Amino acid sequence: MNLSPQQSAAVLNHLLRTPAIALVLLDQDGVIQACNPGLCVLLGSESNPVGERLADYLDRAGGLLLMQLLQGMQMQGRVSLGANGLNMPVDCQVLSAEDSSHCLLWMALSSDGENTAELMLKISGLNNQLVNTVREMRRKQKALEQANVTINKLLHLDTLTELANRRSLMHHLNEYLQDRRSSNPFSLVMLDIDHFKAINDTYGHDIGDEVLKAVGRTLSQGSREKDLPARIGGEEFVILLPATDQQGAFIFAEKIRTMSRLIQVPGTAHHITMSLGVTQKQPQDTPASILKRADNALYQAKRSGRDQTVLYQAAG
Ligand code: GH3
Ligand code: MG
Ligand code: MG
Repeated sequence: MNLSPQQSAAVLNHLLRTPAIALVLLDQDGVIQACNPGLCVLLGSESNPVGERLADYLDRAGGLLLMQLLQGMQMQGRVSLGANGLNMPVDCQVLSAEDSSHCLLWMALSSDGENTAELMLKISGLNNQLVNTVREMRRKQKALEQANVTINKLLHLDTLTELANRRSLMHHLNEYLQDRRSSNPFSLVMLDIDHFKAINDTYGHDIGDEVLKAVGRTLSQGSREKDLPARIGGEEFVILLPATDQQGAFIFAEKIRTMSRLIQVPGTAHHITMSLGVTQKQPQDTPASILKRADNALYQAKRSGRDQTVLYQAAG
C-alpha cells in the first residue's frame, strides 16, 4: 500500500478517531507503551491497558505471530483477540519498526470474516451490558444516598411532633457553645406542659399525642428560621434562640405561652397551659450547665403555680 503523505495523514487521522481500530505502541517485549481508545474496545477492557503485555490478550498462535511481528520477521497477520470469550479475528499490521526497541502496530477487526456482523453485535452487546451495569450502579448509589438522608433525618427528628429530637438539640447546643468567637448572646427556653398526665388519664394516650403534636406546630409557627425548637422528652420541649438575649427570650417564651393557651384538647373544651424557664448563655457554659439553669427556672415556674414564664436568677 503506497500512500502519499497527505493520504497517510488522512488515514492516520481516521484510524485515531475510529473506536474499533487500535493503534498501539509496543516495546520489544510486547508491553503496551501507548495506545488509542480503540484498543480498549478491541480488548473489551474498561481499564487502560498501558503497561500490560499485549500477548496476554492473545491466544497461543496470536502470541507467536506477535513475536514475529516484533522481531520484524512478519509485517502483518491475523490474531484471535478479545477478553470475555469474544475471540475476534483481528488484523494486525506493523506500521513502523524503525528501531528495534519499539513497534507501532495497527489492529482492526477483520472485515472479511463471515461473522463480522455477529461480532459487531457482540461488541455492542458488551457496550449495552456496560451501560446497563453503570446505570444500575448509579441507581443503587442514588437509593443508598436517599436512604442515608432518611436515616440521618430520622436520627435527628422526633417523629411524633416532627421537631428536632434531644440528640439533635444536644448536637446544636454543643456547636453554639463551642463557637467561643461569637459575641452574640444566645438563650434557651425549656417548657413543660402543665398537668399533662391528667390529659392522658382523662382522654387517653392518643389524645395526649395529638396535644403534643399541636404544641410542636405552635413552636414551629412561633419560632424564627434560625431558632431550634426540639422535643427532648415526653411533654418537655427546648427552644434554642441564637442572637437573643434573656429579655428577648422571655418575650418569646411569653408569646409561646399565650399561643399555646389556644390549644384545645381535641374533642373537648379543655385548653392546655404550660410552664417555661428562660436563661441566657454564660461564658463558661456547658450543655449541662445551661440546661440545668433553664430547668431550675422551669421548676420555679411550676412551684409558683404553673402557666407562667420564669427568667433564671442566680441565687444570692
Ligand atoms: P406537671 O404539671 O408537674 O408537669 O405535671 P404533668 O402531669 O405534666 O407531669 P408528669 O411528669 O407527672 O407527667 C407527664 C406525663 O407525660 C406522663 C407520661 O405518661 C406522659 N407522656 C410521656 N411521653 C408521652 C407521649 O409520647 N405521649 C403521651 N400521650 N404521653 C406521654
Ligand atoms: Mg414533665
Ligand atoms: Mg408536665
